[in-house]
Amino acid sequence: MEQLAAGAVLHKHELVYLLNHLDEDSRKQLQTLAHQKRVQAYGTSVYLRGLIEFSNICKQNCLYCGLRSSNKELSRYRLLPEEITACCREGYELGYRTFVLQSGEDDWYTTEKLVLLISSIKSMFPDAAITLSIGEREDEPYTRLLEAGADRYLLRHETASPALYQALHPTMTFENRRSRLRALQRIGYQIGAGFMVGLPGQTSADLADDLLYLQQLQPDMIGIGPFLPHHATPLKNEPPGTVEQTLDMIALARLMVPDALIPATTAMGTAHPQGRELALQAGANVVMPNLSPLSVRPKYMLYNNKICTGDESAQCRFCLERRIEAAGFHVDMGRGDSLKHLTHSRHCI
Ligand code: SF4
Repeated sequence: MEQLAAGAVLHKHELVYLLNHLDEDSRKQLQTLAHQKRVQAYGTSVYLRGLIEFSNICKQNCLYCGLRSSNKELSRYRLLPEEITACCREGYELGYRTFVLQSGEDDWYTTEKLVLLISSIKSMFPDAAITLSIGEREDEPYTRLLEAGADRYLLRHETASPALYQALHPTMTFENRRSRLRALQRIGYQIGAGFMVGLPGQTSADLADDLLYLQQLQPDMIGIGPFLPHHATPLKNEPPGTVEQTLDMIALARLMVPDALIPATTAMGTAHPQGRELALQAGANVVMPNLSPLSVRPKYMLYNNKICTGDESAQCRFCLERRIEAAGFHVDMGRGDSLKHLTHSRHCI
């Protein structure tokens, strides 16, 4: 752990050994090292992003996900562009300077419609960043969306194990996922990768590969959350991933990619009442409160018992601010670009 904190690159077998030998004391030490690394990089700031879940319609069929196309129990919705901009306006007035537009893979939202939407958000709120999280598309749409004003793109790699990826994503391929992430980075987005912890059949070697993949990719953002089962999916009876192991991964990701922005995810808050605070203390530095209209929030149910589906946007914002401060951090409502991006921008000027 100290070698990692000093910037060394560990071999896979060393990481596997570490993962298999963590105990209460070494976990504490790991989290302390990760916290120190995060303070060196970003101080005690926690960046808030306003999340707008604008469509729960998805053509894919991932085995773990409540939005999968085979889930016929789910009542589907899609916000119209003007409803999305209304959420951004509310968010802007609450102080948000990043909007995360997230959806299933919904082809109704063509490149043309998204270009218009992004341009209009940017013209209304020029000092705000737009993050897209809308799944796999081709290079050309990615380029046009960036040119329209999108700044960042979240596309979790989900798992670095080709076999596990293929088993969980019957309608997608491991190679394409990786190719899309590389394309987004090449095209010029700040990119976010990430994975689930505690997937059925996942091994320590798979988790070591996840960390090594992140170290090699050097994404600007890293989303790590526990696998949580959803009652209407084939994985409904599988045990969830643990908070403890997810915290290990967050802390190791902080040591291995020190400049990354790492969210304390809603999945962590769902898995444990203090899950997001624990994640912040283990190296995370972003929280994404929900700005979606209350009427649709219960329909964006990726996994069972997802939290914060009943709170007004303003309540979410201030509830999280109180929690963040009680955990020893402070809220930063700025755009919160990644350090890697800021360094790159300075070199380009
Ligand atoms: S994980 Fe994403 S792509 Fe897969 S079914 Fe869910 S929303 Fe669709």
